[in-house]
Amino acid sequence: KAAGRNRYALFGDHMNQLLRARRELENDLRHAIETKTQIEIHYQPVYSATTGEMCSVEALVRWRHPKKGLLGPDIFIPVAEEAGLITALGLIVLDDACATISAWNDLPVSVNASAAELKLESYPLRVLSTLARHNIEPGRLEIEITESLLLDGSGQCERTIAALRKAGVRFAIDDFGTGYSSFGRVQDVSIDRIKIDKVFVDELSRSGNNGIIVGMVSMARARGLEITAEGVETEEQREMLGSLGCDHLQGYLLSKPLTREQFASVRTKTVSD
Ligand code: C2E
Ligand code: CA
Ligand code: CA
Ligand code: CA
Repeated sequence: KAAGRNRYALFGDHMNQLLRARRELENDLRHAIETKTQIEIHYQPVYSATTGEMCSVEALVRWRHPKKGLLGPDIFIPVAEEAGLITALGLIVLDDACATISAWNDLPVSVNASAAELKLESYPLRVLSTLARHNIEPGRLEIEITESLLLDGSGQCERTIAALRKAGVRFAIDDFGTGYSSFGRVQDVSIDRIKIDKVFVDELSRSGNNGIIVGMVSMARARGLEITAEGVETEEQREMLGSLGCDHLQGYLLSKPLTREQFASVRTKTVSD
């Protein structure tokens, strides 16, 4: 019985530690968002599958934590979502990405948005005013959302998407194929692109089974959607995805996400070639 109580105490201690760490991370994140310091964006180039040219960049958020170092979004986006900080973070990302790409001629940019952002009634206005402030054509922005966001049933996300598309902003379904009713929901909602998830790209080169991707490409073609394949890591994948009809390719084979400075130097190199 005593051992049981001990174990319980230990478990309690452990829980307390976890909760404290979590609260600390949340407070640190709140501070980072309020001061707009520590949040930075990396840019991953996306290339044409046919010409090999760079066509756009995806903005991927990072948090330069003063003690923990550079943190990836998988660590802090869930914290931001639970703490009600995601809409503020999303705006910082959008504003910062727009400020940066406004210097990069006509290069289009993609940003990732969470469900809570799209559910915000003021979201379309916020996005459009940010674009206007940086003098960026709405057609240069693509917003990446996941399928699960279309399943909430309220219709608010659909209305937001429709309003922004009317103004020229483009939408992509991210991680396509990993959600529940991929093909079904995409039929009803007006979007511009699907991004085929990395798991299908990996499966393609592991088993040679191209059935799923062929199905996605033909669905997308029939609906007039563009297709990006994500997580392209090998030459073999690049060739297969190109011949299956993907329009754009993104992945470590072509380029990792780059800091603004790294990207600027890659870009000038390509331009002066
Ligand atoms: P995602 O939108 O699916 O982004 C692609 C992720 O895969 C990125 O991870 C990218 O660095 C990584 N990646 C790209 N090419 C390759 C490859 O060839 N191999 C492998 N193994 N990975 C590759 P990252 O930057 O850690 O982002 C993770 C997720 O965090 C993103 O997944 C996105 O869902 C979310 N995220 C990123 N930035 C934001 C943001 O500003 N707002 C919101 N709400 N979510 C964001
Ligand atoms: Ca994405
Ligand atoms: Ca993705
Ligand atoms: Ca993902």
